[in-house]
Amino acid sequence: MDLANHPCFNAKMRGKYGRVHLPVAPRCNIQCNYCDRKYDCVNESRPGVTSAVLKPRQAMTYLDYVFEEVKNISVVGIAGPGDPFANPDETMETLRLVREKYPEIILCLATNGLGIGPYIDELSEMNVSHVTITLNAVDPEIGSQIYSFVRHGKRVLAPKAGFEVLLEKQLEAIIRLKEKNVTTKVNTIILPGINEDHIETVAEKMAELKVDILNCIPFFPNKGAKFADIPEPSKESVIQIRKKAAQHIPQMYHCKRCRADAVGILGEENGCQINEKLQECAQ
Ligand code: SF4
Ligand code: SF4
Repeated sequence: MDLANHPCFNAKMRGKYGRVHLPVAPRCNIQCNYCDRKYDCVNESRPGVTSAVLKPRQAMTYLDYVFEEVKNISVVGIAGPGDPFANPDETMETLRLVREKYPEIILCLATNGLGIGPYIDELSEMNVSHVTITLNAVDPEIGSQIYSFVRHGKRVLAPKAGFEVLLEKQLEAIIRLKEKNVTTKVNTIILPGINEDHIETVAEKMAELKVDILNCIPFFPNKGAKFADIPEPSKESVIQIRKKAAQHIPQMYHCKRCRADAVGILGEENGCQINEKLQECAQ
């Protein structure tokens, strides 16, 4: 396994190698105000529902098929459609099964970071080499505008208390992942009028924590979400925000906001036959 062959973390590989996302994580443990649960997780997605949700064993049947049909897949990832660690049993079982059968494949995860902490040792032992955490603010005044609630254990926390817990868990997770030498990306959604002037501060903090790469993702309005009326950021403002952030930390410029069931080369649509197989495996 050459870790440099991850098409998201290494732009040189984006046309050469593909990834497959296994949609095994339907539930979420927070409510981002830009997310409508009818859609994929904006952690790693553009609007559009995943075609199906798979159980771990179903995901393996599907994965075997994808490897037969699609060439040059270097990465197997879990990116929703909810959060992997709001579904830790499904997520961990899937990763174990994939690692057992495909010892050479790159394993990757995208999460909001709230629940990953207790699993970091085992993830590292399984050689999950790439993790993405979506972190949108490091300031409670800003962060508490972005989340409606955070579910922490059995408690559902209101925005301010919820954001404080979320941020604490995110920062702890990043520190532990870096201690374990996991390549760590942070996704930050650019939210006009909310955090757009704060992203350089996020970039500085992430650089301090030795995060490998920052992916500033332009907000995309979801009809059913609380932030449905916030406009998309202009192309020019995205360029300027990334330019400022790049003074502190390397930037990802080629993210395609993929679906939670994306397959193949970044930016290419899943074929019908892959979607049909996904739905068949889910039954
Ligand atoms: Fe939606 Fe993802 Fe936020 Fe959960 S973490 S509310 S699935 S965007
Ligand atoms: Fe890669 Fe971005 Fe797609 Fe995630 S959403 S698989 S980082 S291109």
